[in-house]
Amino acid sequence: MSKVLVIGAGGVSSVCVHKMAMNSEIFPEIHLASRTRSKCDAIAASVKTRTGQSIETYEIDAEEVPAMVNLIKKIGADLVVNLALPYQDLPIMDACLETGVHYIDTANYEPKDEAKFEYKWQWAYHDRFKEAGLMALLGSGFDPGVTSVFTMWLKKHKLKTIRTLDILDCNGGDHGQAFATNFNPEINIREVTAPARHWENGEWVETPAMQVKTEFDFEAVGPKNAYLMYHEELESLSKFNPEMERARFWMTFGDEYIKHLTVLQNVGMTSIEPVRYQGKEIIPLQFLAAVLPKPESLGETTKGNTNIGCIATGEALDGSGEKTFYINNICSHEAAYEETGNQAVSYTTGVPAMIGTAMMVTGKWSGKGVFNIEEMDPDPFMDMLNAHGLPWQVKELDGPVQF
Ligand code: NDP
Repeated sequence: MSKVLVIGAGGVSSVCVHKMAMNSEIFPEIHLASRTRSKCDAIAASVKTRTGQSIETYEIDAEEVPAMVNLIKKIGADLVVNLALPYQDLPIMDACLETGVHYIDTANYEPKDEAKFEYKWQWAYHDRFKEAGLMALLGSGFDPGVTSVFTMWLKKHKLKTIRTLDILDCNGGDHGQAFATNFNPEINIREVTAPARHWENGEWVETPAMQVKTEFDFEAVGPKNAYLMYHEELESLSKFNPEMERARFWMTFGDEYIKHLTVLQNVGMTSIEPVRYQGKEIIPLQFLAAVLPKPESLGETTKGNTNIGCIATGEALDGSGEKTFYINNICSHEAAYEETGNQAVSYTTGVPAMIGTAMMVTGKWSGKGVFNIEEMDPDPFMDMLNAHGLPWQVKELDGPVQF
């Protein structure tokens, strides 16, 4: 497996492609295609300047399966790295099946007309990938991705079973704008305005969006309000760790972000229902996304750190009773920008996308069918996190979280 085709040319793709080019012994040939070719060319130019590596670029609408099939065949790609948007997951998987190539992504499928991301659509491809002898790896970003691997590493090395899990995602970066999202605005706003859901005693408990919050003191950031949210790794983590009594996901938001989002919601700008405007049908959220700052434009001004990790409580592997561990990564926006020209939210997603792809290319992870990242051995992935810009730390806490 030596030829990779990356789809999408946003912030996540930019980081992933830069990191691939920095590891040319694993990725000797990189191809990059997206809806807007000029964005691929800009990434290729930056990669050339920073690493000396050349990258081929193409224009593609990844929702057009025959066009994707032609492109994969023309390149002779072995693996497609999907860093476009969740809407493209299924057409890209169809094209992979038709051409006999492997697949990896960072976000699960979501239909355009319903803000409901779930794994069921992609899990339904398992038998077809298995019969074709192909591997599809789902969720190789940070969350999902690293948070899932962190949890499975704790379960391999520290805890026999996990009783409670809390994933804490803090972006302590300041981009100097009144309101902006640090990854694709449309996907981000669909995610944070959806009702919160967490796993408790074998079922999903739903609460209104952004209502339940706790304050947590994040290392390298300081105290922040973290809000209970639904996040896609809760679905796979609860599937692969059925013993868990409770699993929750928390994300920090500043008061300014909440204020702007509340107003935008109240006036209908976050709606995905089409409205007629000057004789044309438009989706308010798509229009809003078009006027908000592009996430890839925030890199230069963003200062501060991200701190994302998992707190897990369960029965210790060594038989010493119940223990609680906190495992996390701290990433600097400035350092991420200096290395790749992108801020830390793109960096913390693009690096694990490169590492997951490296696991498949090198054969450290293999399989036939559709797999979530939780099903793979966490150790080689964790080693690469340390070596490629996302070092992690683990410590024992005095007891379970009290929020
Ligand atoms: P961006 O919006 O910056 O980039 C998305 C790219 O996909 C753009 O270049 C866009 O093209 C391209 N694209 C959109 N539609 C198509 C299409 N039909 N065919 C081909 N290309 C298309 O997003 P990000 O880089 O911030 O995020 C990329 C992905 O990563 C998203 O799926 C997001 O959900 C996921 N993500 C995952 C995280 C994790 O931790 N697991 C965290 C953050 C993001 P154009 O430029 O022309 O619009």
